Amino acid sequence: MAGHNFSDPPSHHHPDPPPDPLSPSPDRSLDTVLVTSVPKLAFTAESYGLFPLAAKLRACRSDAAVYRRPDGSFGHAPMGCGHRLCPACTKAKTAQLRSRIRCIAPSANLHVTLTCATAPDDSLLRFYIRALQSSLRLLTQRKPRPYSDRWLPFSPGYMWKLEVTPSLNCFHPHIHLITAAPHISHEALTHRWAAALRTNHLHGGHLWITAVNPRLIHEMSKYLAKGLSHIHPSRWASLDSGLFRQRAYGSGGSLTLPPAPRPRINTLVGFLSRWESDPDILDYAMATQAYADLLPDSPTRSALEALWNSHFYRFSRHRLKNTFHRRFSND
Ligand SMILES: [Zn+2]
Repeated sequence: MAGHNFSDPPSHHHPDPPPDPLSPSPDRSLDTVLVTSVPKLAFTAESYGLFPLAAKLRACRSDAAVYRRPDGSFGHAPMGCGHRLCPACTKAKTAQLRSRIRCIAPSANLHVTLTCATAPDDSLLRFYIRALQSSLRLLTQRKPRPYSDRWLPFSPGYMWKLEVTPSLNCFHPHIHLITAAPHISHEALTHRWAAALRTNHLHGGHLWITAVNPRLIHEMSKYLAKGLSHIHPSRWASLDSGLFRQRAYGSGGSLTLPPAPRPRINTLVGFLSRWESDPDILDYAMATQAYADLLPDSPTRSALEALWNSHFYRFSRHRLKNTFHRRFSND
């Protein structure tokens, strides 16, 4: 019965499910799914008594800032709630991290998944994440004295990312790591990882070493924790507090991540929600239909949509665009 270890505890299984070859590409129409899913999640959070989370999710993309670029042109950006479990905001954050990972990916050779055994207690998530991260530090940094002469397997360069996957009875925090090291012995690394875990009172560490491929880079940057819709709402609070102010990724050596791009310097014109008192904002909203980027059912979007549907604006879009340009462009 080689390959069928039915007696294996869950920690022996790889924390991520194998990719489904028939599933559509992960990014397809994700935006439309997100825009409809956030209000539903807010509703669920409210019915489970998670009022601060519900309030945050409801505020997400309920307004947008209209700004003026240095070249004189206009643009707008929906304002996210910034919550670590909000699917819409996570997507924007991971897109940025992905482009930074792509810069270092060509020099990466190996991908390592590092795990530890976890007890079925959601409140321990924070402890596990902390312990995993300090175990990883023993494998990447020379700083702690007693380990200074030890083998640092990822020393040529590494980039790690924390991920939390849920199972029915516990959360499985684990670390995905890409390294510039050309070859690592599985046996030696298993030994070293187990020793590092023991230092932090963890055990049952397992690891997988594979080659780096583009799909992996995508998976790695995808999320910190699988979306709220995959986890029962009664566990949202423990997931949220477990992830509170935890570092989600890090890098060093030749795989040090390039710095995050600085936000461009734009001049704020106003907010879409102020359309009643600001004719410029109203004209901008009608000429570009910027309100379509807000969450459905948000008061600003509903009001602007109703205005657009009242025939006056629908038939005067062309005129609006012209006046808009005359009023706002530099020339
Ligand atoms: Zn959000």
